[in-house]
Amino acid sequence: MSRMIEMKGKQFGRLTVIRQNGQDPKNADLLWECRCSCGNIVTVDGSRLRGGYVRSCGCLRRELARERYTKNKGFTKNMGNPQNLRNSDGIMVSSIKESQRNTSGVVGVSYDKATERWLARLMYKGRYVLLKSFDTKAEAVEARKQAEKMYWHKTKQDRQTVG
Ligand SMILES: [Zn+2]
Repeated sequence: MSRMIEMKGKQFGRLTVIRQNGQDPKNADLLWECRCSCGNIVTVDGSRLRGGYVRSCGCLRRELARERYTKNKGFTKNMGNPQNLRNSDGIMVSSIKESQRNTSGVVGVSYDKATERWLARLMYKGRYVLLKSFDTKAEAVEARKQAEKMYWHKTKQDRQTVG
């Protein structure tokens, strides 16, 4: 019976032991009714309590999971960063920064030394809507022009809708 007195009123993480409440049929461990700081009442195996395996009614775990999820969301967001993407030709977007040094004289068109191809790109609302490589500079320039027409025209339309 001394075990019971020992446990009563003790705090284990968020749990405060209220009273003894039965016995675990598997290992004959005493079960304890505990109040979680969130207000929930749970019955927990004494050895799991003392071992620190149980520290809340489950709300602590839920909070941690939510936190992890939020962090993951940030991570996923990062994955969508154009810098981490490859275009349809398998060229790392981040390598474009490198190739920007090899200017073609045309905005959005540059020569990629690594692949020996001409890159055409266009950013629209923070992401690449055009990211393609071509054999010739003329093709790349043309692709950029077409994309400008398509997306910059779109932007104008957006503005008209808003204004
Ligand atoms: Zn709780």
